[in-house]
Amino acid sequence: MKVLLIGSGGREHALAWKLAQSPRLTQLFAAPGNPGIADVATLIEIDVENHEAVLSFCLSAGIDFVVVGPEAPLVAGLADMLRAENILVFGPSQAAAQLEGSKGFTKDICARYGIPTGAYRRFTEAAPAIAYIHEQGAPIVIKADGLAAGKGVTVAMTIEEAVAAAEDCFSGAFGAAGAEVVVEAFLDGEEASFFCLCDGTHALPLGSAQDHKRVGDGDTGPNTGGMGAYSPAPVMSAEMVDRTMREIIEPTLAGMAESGHPFEGVLFAGLMITEKGPELIEYNVRFGDPECQVLMMRLKSDLLPLLLASATGGLAELEAEWRDETALTVVMASKGYPAAYDKGTPIAALPAEEADMKVFHAGTALKDGALVATGGRVLNVTAIGDTVEAARDAAYAAVDKVSWDNGFCRRDIGWRAIGRTA
Ligand code: ATP
Repeated sequence: MKVLLIGSGGREHALAWKLAQSPRLTQLFAAPGNPGIADVATLIEIDVENHEAVLSFCLSAGIDFVVVGPEAPLVAGLADMLRAENILVFGPSQAAAQLEGSKGFTKDICARYGIPTGAYRRFTEAAPAIAYIHEQGAPIVIKADGLAAGKGVTVAMTIEEAVAAAEDCFSGAFGAAGAEVVVEAFLDGEEASFFCLCDGTHALPLGSAQDHKRVGDGDTGPNTGGMGAYSPAPVMSAEMVDRTMREIIEPTLAGMAESGHPFEGVLFAGLMITEKGPELIEYNVRFGDPECQVLMMRLKSDLLPLLLASATGGLAELEAEWRDETALTVVMASKGYPAAYDKGTPIAALPAEEADMKVFHAGTALKDGALVATGGRVLNVTAIGDTVEAARDAAYAAVDKVSWDNGFCRRDIGWRAIGRTA
């Protein structure tokens, strides 16, 4: 089977690495990919925002299956366009991708199907939104409806902060994504991410993870795309997983099917584990980055048939086998990230490959044959161990072998899970 993988981050490197191990794979292509992905796939230089160009490559290369990594092409309808040409795709339709693309859409699904989430209202004008904020009081959460790369959410501790955030959205700070605003009750608890593969009717649980969004140790500094993650998340006990499946995932799938937009692909639930149990913060319609890296490290089964069953049906007959250990990944980023950083800084050395340690590439490139950092988040140093501590120690031992003067990382990835067992 010839597979085309869309994307260029650490998430896609992890997917490429697992797909390349499949006995069912004949050839793997990636667009645009990165130097790490190039070890296991043929890189294709096409603009993935140009859907016609993706289609034309698929037809000329005889691609059987397209795996879409990031959300943007899904929300833009790439999967629909390829399916219309009878090409199998892993990922939701544009209509189903609204679960990520519109926070208001997801909140309405929750309301209609009794899925636990914070109480909310949707607004298209500032005045009634501000009146509602005053009525509800703080803390309260203000969200631009559409995709805003993680910047469209304000967890406001005061009414003034909440009002300012709503005014920001309506004054165009997030462009079209902020034309509508969701005002939502603040949920108190521990956050966790939970992943399922879906084929429209059935959901196969993949497991849980926790990430570290802030740039600095001790969860300080600005938000980032994620500075590290581990899987499983200790807070996601068997009971919590069971409740999440019954109370959140299954009603969502049934609701999406009933509304004529059955969900296929990976459903990534951002959860708050509150005193009452799991509540939904948000859905994403693709793997998390860097959560995907730790999930792939733990997956024993062949990934390709699982992704294929998501696209063709039949997930109910499949099971995924996992390593019971903990996988942990440390993100190495360019100094300055998430603000401005230098591009093109040399990465002189990476640690040698080991069976239970893997360095996934994100923002890297080759310049005159030498590896350089081109992005904010650049490397994901990932290890697996019997305990969170063992995985952490192995990951940081490998981090210390990376020779990259302009790189930095958090030194406390895994602190919450380690604190729990201590
Ligand atoms: P964007 O759409 O801009 O990319 P996002 O998808 O990352 O943003 P969310 O996941 O909905 O946005 O929210 C970001 C973070 O804000 C969450 O990870 C959580 O920490 C916090 N948050 C969101 N909603 C709530 C809530 N109701 N109560 C408490 N914290 C919340």
